[in-house]
Amino acid sequence: MKLDSALLIGAALSFATAAFAEVSTGHPFYGDPPDDNHPWCVHDQNRPQPKLVKPLPESKLEAKAKAPAGAIVLFDGTEACLSKWVSDKNPNEPTKWIVRNGNMECVPKSGYVRTKEEFSDCQLHVEWAAPTPPEGDSQGRGNSGIFLMGMVEIQVLDNFDNPTYADGFACSMYGVSPPLANALRPPGEFQFVDITFHRPIYKDDKCVDPGWVTVYCNGVLMQDRQQIEGPTGHGRRPKPCAFPEKGPLKLQDHGNPVRFRNIWYCPLDPAKAGAPKHGPMTAKATAAKRKELAASIRKDAAGKPAGSVEQMLRFAESLVYEKDDATCKKVEQMAGQYLAGVKQLPADQIGSKKDEVTQVGNDFKYLAKWNIVPDDFGPKVEVEKLAKEHGWKLKK
Ligand code: MG
Repeated sequence: MKLDSALLIGAALSFATAAFAEVSTGHPFYGDPPDDNHPWCVHDQNRPQPKLVKPLPESKLEAKAKAPAGAIVLFDGTEACLSKWVSDKNPNEPTKWIVRNGNMECVPKSGYVRTKEEFSDCQLHVEWAAPTPPEGDSQGRGNSGIFLMGMVEIQVLDNFDNPTYADGFACSMYGVSPPLANALRPPGEFQFVDITFHRPIYKDDKCVDPGWVTVYCNGVLMQDRQQIEGPTGHGRRPKPCAFPEKGPLKLQDHGNPVRFRNIWYCPLDPAKAGAPKHGPMTAKATAAKRKELAASIRKDAAGKPAGSVEQMLRFAESLVYEKDDATCKKVEQMAGQYLAGVKQLPADQIGSKKDEVTQVGNDFKYLAKWNIVPDDFGPKVEVEKLAKEHGWKLKK
C-alpha cells in the first residue's frame, strides 16, 4: 500500500500531468530526513499546511503592479518581449513558450525558459495564472517556478483547494520554507507576486551573508526575509554555496501550461562582502555621499538669483553635509551684505523683513548648534543682535 502510494506520488513529482486518485500532501521516507538545524524532512507531510488568507482584490493590486520608472521590463504582454527569453537548455535558441492574449504561456515539455538579461539583487514582480479547469493534484496541478538567478525556486503552484507538502506550496522557497499563508485566487485568475532577493555573499570561500528572500502574494506576506540555504533541489536539502555575480531569471516547465504576464525587476544595491546591508552606511561611504550631496546643493545654489537671500541660505545648507572653508566664507560675505542692506532700510520698511531675518537667524543658530559654524560666526552674532533690537524672537 505504502509502496503504491509512493510510486504514485513519485510519478506526479517527476514532471507528470497525470491526476492523483486522491489528494496527498506527500509521504514519509521520501525527502532528506531531519538534521541538527531542520526538524522537518524535506517535503514533509507532517509539516503544517499554510493558513488560508483572503487575498487583496485585484483592483487594489493593479496600481502597485505597474513597472515603476527605472524598472527593467522582462515581459509586457507583447510578442516582441518574448525575444528577451531563450530556451534554458539551448540558450542560443529562442524559447518555444508562446504569447497568447498578452500572456507568456508555458508549452509543456518544451523546457525551462531563461532571460537573456542576467542580474542578482533585485525587487521582482511576476504575475502568473494556473490553467483552468484545474487538472491534477498536489504538485501536478499548475506547477511552474520562479528561479531567482536560475538557482532558488519560489514555487508556482495551483494550491487553490489543492493541498501539497508544505515546503512545496505556492510561494514556498521550494524544499526549504513553506509560505506563511495561502492567499491564492482560483485557477485562471492572476496571482501578483512581489519578491526582494539578496544573493549569498562569500569572501575567501567563507559565507559572510547567506542571502535573503522576501515574498508577497496578492498583497499577503509569504516569506519574511527568509534565509537562502543554497540552490533548490528536489527531495534534497540544499547546501549553502557561493553564487555567481549574476544570473538569469528562469521560469520552470513542470508540464503545465501556466501563464505569466507583467514581469519586471528593479536592481537593488548588490550586497558586498563585509558591508552591512541593512544598517548605517560605512564611514567611508557616508563621507562620499555627503560630499556628493553638498556638491549638488552648491550647484543648485549657483543657479539661484545672484546675491539673493535664497542663494545665501542654499550655500549655507550645503555646509550641513560638508564643511568647506570657501563656501563658509562666501556665506559669511553674502550674509554680511544682506544684513547691512536690511539695517539701511527706513524704520517704516524694516518690519517687512521680520520673517526673512528670523529665518536667517534660526538657520545660523542651527549651524552653530551643530558646530558647523563657530558660535561666534559673524553673521550669526549680527542677526541675533538685529532680531533682539526689533523684538523678533528666534528659536531657542
Ligand atoms: Mg515548481
